[in-house]
Amino acid sequence: MDPGADPTSIKAIETEIEQMGLRPFINPGVERKVIAVLGEMGIKKAELVEHFSTFPGVARVDLISDLWKLCSKTYHPESSIIEVNGVRIGGADVVVIAGPCSVENEQQTLEAAIQVKEAGAKMLRGGAFKPRSSPYSFQGLGEEGLKILAKAREETGLPVVTEVMDTHEVDLVAEYADVLQIGARNMQNYSLLKSVGSSGRAVLLKRGMGSKVRDLLMSAEYIMSEGNQNVILCERGITTFEDSTRNTTDINAIPVLKNWTHLPVVLDPSHSTGDWRYVMPIALAGVACGADGLVIEVHGDPQHALSDGIQSLKPAKFKELFESVKDVAKAVGRSA
Ligand code: PEP
Ligand code: MN
Repeated sequence: MDPGADPTSIKAIETEIEQMGLRPFINPGVERKVIAVLGEMGIKKAELVEHFSTFPGVARVDLISDLWKLCSKTYHPESSIIEVNGVRIGGADVVVIAGPCSVENEQQTLEAAIQVKEAGAKMLRGGAFKPRSSPYSFQGLGEEGLKILAKAREETGLPVVTEVMDTHEVDLVAEYADVLQIGARNMQNYSLLKSVGSSGRAVLLKRGMGSKVRDLLMSAEYIMSEGNQNVILCERGITTFEDSTRNTTDINAIPVLKNWTHLPVVLDPSHSTGDWRYVMPIALAGVACGADGLVIEVHGDPQHALSDGIQSLKPAKFKELFESVKDVAKAVGRSA
């Protein structure tokens, strides 16, 4: 309460709290009174903050507990293991998802799929619908790209992760994909989150480049509240003042997320660094600090890639990365 809040306004708040079926507890401080609200507030906590903020004499309303529930470790202490076509993510195994940034043609995608599988990848990534910063850049092959990914799955057995950008395309992408990717730019597209929430497919949710870890969890909550518990969170770097790399890898986010949520957490060092030379060291850092998996861009001919060539590893380099991932995973009590 404000330091000078009069007894009538304090009484009014007490009465309101009681009328809501909650219990007020007044802490009679020297300078000001603090009113704690006790009881089961459910998922409407944010609304309660707004409601009590409007009362006369109130200085500030703070939430002590989290706004998210379904993804919270408090309500679900054991880590969730998400299974996609027999691949388990969130357990002892560090799952490496790899493939090109964009599906460009059948040969490029099939070759990459075979090579990443040989090296040890457990899932195939590749974009058919591409969120490009410029409308003049390659926008992806659309449904033709999805068909190529399905063919690559047939050839290799690798489950397919691919991005969906629009609510109108969720059914189409879900027909071909095993995991629907929500890109960084769409992390707070709430209609899209609800739509993938009811798609029945697992979701790889990427953190927005200007979003807090808390916001990422609220977005996961959107998907889960539609009945879809199969959400994999992905740190992919954030925008900071630093411009020596494309983004700044928020390595802290990995242990923080592992502490706050039971959902699996993966790191995408390709987009977080934007430079193939830094992909391996940052990938290893991610595994060292508890990531359940990695997303790595791989291209047979990065110089001629239609998107993200600079950050794409050649297959031989990817193989090297995977070998080191195995070593680091072992050092932290895991496997790959
Ligand atoms: C991608 O995975 O190719 C991509 C576009 O990622 P992000 O949404 O993280 O930029
Ligand atoms: Mn990319």
